[in-house]
Amino acid sequence: MWYLTDERKLVLDATKEFVRTEVAPQVAHIEKTSEFPMELFKRAGELGLIGLTVPAEYNGTGIDQTSSGLVLEEIAKTMPVLTIAMGAHILLAGGLIQMLGTEEQKQKWLVPAATGEKILACASTEPVGGDNQAEFTTRAVRDADGWVINGAKCLICNVGVADYYVVIAVTADKVDPVTKAGISCFVVPADTPGLKVGEAEHKLGWRGSATGSVYFDDVHVPAENLVGPEGGCLQAMFVSASAEFLSCGPVSLGIAEGAYQMALDYSMTRIQQGHTMFDRFQVTRHKLAKMWGEIESLRALVYSTYAQRDAGQLELAKCRLMKIKGAEVSEYVCREAIQLHGGVGTIVDTGVERYWRDAKVMAIGGASVEALVDVVSGLIKAGRA
Ligand SMILES: Cc1cc2nc3c(=O)[nH]c(=O)nc-3n(C[C@H](O)[C@H](O)[C@H](O)COP(=O)(O)OP(=O)(O)OC[C@H]3O[C@@H](n4cnc5c(N)ncnc54)[C@H](O)[C@@H]3O)c2cc1C
Repeated sequence: MWYLTDERKLVLDATKEFVRTEVAPQVAHIEKTSEFPMELFKRAGELGLIGLTVPAEYNGTGIDQTSSGLVLEEIAKTMPVLTIAMGAHILLAGGLIQMLGTEEQKQKWLVPAATGEKILACASTEPVGGDNQAEFTTRAVRDADGWVINGAKCLICNVGVADYYVVIAVTADKVDPVTKAGISCFVVPADTPGLKVGEAEHKLGWRGSATGSVYFDDVHVPAENLVGPEGGCLQAMFVSASAEFLSCGPVSLGIAEGAYQMALDYSMTRIQQGHTMFDRFQVTRHKLAKMWGEIESLRALVYSTYAQRDAGQLELAKCRLMKIKGAEVSEYVCREAIQLHGGVGTIVDTGVERYWRDAKVMAIGGASVEALVDVVSGLIKAGRA
C-alpha cells in the first residue's frame, strides 16, 4: 500500500500481534455477554494505541493520523466495538478537552485518558432534539461556586465504566437555533452525587460498548469543570466531532474487510456440485469482485483523507463523508458476506452476521448518515466542500 512507511508498518505489526494474541480470543465472549472489553481497553492503553492522536506532551503517542487509521482498521477487522469504545473515549470526549481545555484541564483529564488509565464518556444525545442541540433540555445553572446540572442523556457509550463524563448542557436562557450559542461543556466525575447511570442497553450491534443513559439530579461541579467558553461549545464540537467521523472510515473499512475475508474463505472451501462455490458460480465470483471493489474504493477515500489530515488539512465535509460512505460500503459488504454463507451465515456462532450488525449501527451511532448528508449539503452551499 502506498501509505505504508517503515514507521507505520511497525505500528501496524504491533497492532496485528495485539489483535491476534489478545483481541481475537475475546470476540465470542464479548459478543455473547455484551461486557465492556475492559481488559483489552486497558491493554490498548498500555500499548499506546488509545492516545495515538494525543500529543506526546499529554501522554499521547503523538504519531501521525494515518497510523491511527491503520490501528483502527486493524482492530475493527476483528473487534469493531473496541474501536468504538476508544473513539467515544479519546476522540469524542477527549477531543473536546484537547480542543477546548486549559492547560490545567488537559493535565487533569486528558493525560490519564491518553493511556486509558481513566475512561471518558461523551454525553451529548438526549431523548429529544436529535441532532438539533438547540432543543436539548439538560441544563447547567450557576450557583455560588460552580454549576448545578439537571437533565438526562441517552445512548451514551462507556456508561458505568467511565471515570469522567464530558457533558453537553444548555447554559443560556435560549439557545440560538442557527449558531447554537448557549451550549456549554462540563467534565463531571462519575462519583459526583446526583449522577446516576442506567443499565447498558441490549443492542443490535456494537455489543460491549456499554451504551446507556446518564441522569443528572442537582449535580454540582466546580467552576473549573466548565471546559471552553460558556455557551460556545457547539461550534467547537462541530470541528472536534470531525475527528470521530474521520475515524469511522477505517473502522468501517475494517468491518467490511473482516466480513469479506470470511466470505472469500467460505466461497473457496464450500463445495457445491463438485466444485468450490467460487469456481462453480459466476454470481459468487462477481459478488466477491464487487465487494472487493467497494472495499478498495473506500480504502482510497480513507487513506487519501488521512493523508490530507497529515498534511494539516481538516476537510469538514470529507470527514463526514468517511462516516457516510463507510457505513454504506460496510453494510453492503457485510450483507453480501452473510448471503454468500447461506444458512450458516445466519447462525451467530459462525461469526459473520455480527459484522453486519456492527455496520448497521455505524450508520446511526454518533450521528445518523442522513443528518450528516444534510450537513455536507450545507457545506457545499457554503463553498466548503
Ligand atoms: C450504539 C450507539 C452509541 C452511541 N453513542 C453515543 C455517545 O457516546 N454519545 C452521544 O452523545 N450519543 C451517542 N449516540 C447517539 C447517536 O449520536 C444518536 O442516536 C444519533 O445522533 C441519532 O440521533 P437520534 O437517535 O436522536 O435520532 P433522531 O435524531 O431522532 O433521528 C432519527 C432519524 O431521523 C432522520 N434524521 C434525523 N436528523 C436528520 C436530518 N438533519 N436530516 C435528515 N434526516 C434526519 C434519520 O433518518 C435518523 O436516523 C449513540 C447511539 C448509538 C445507537
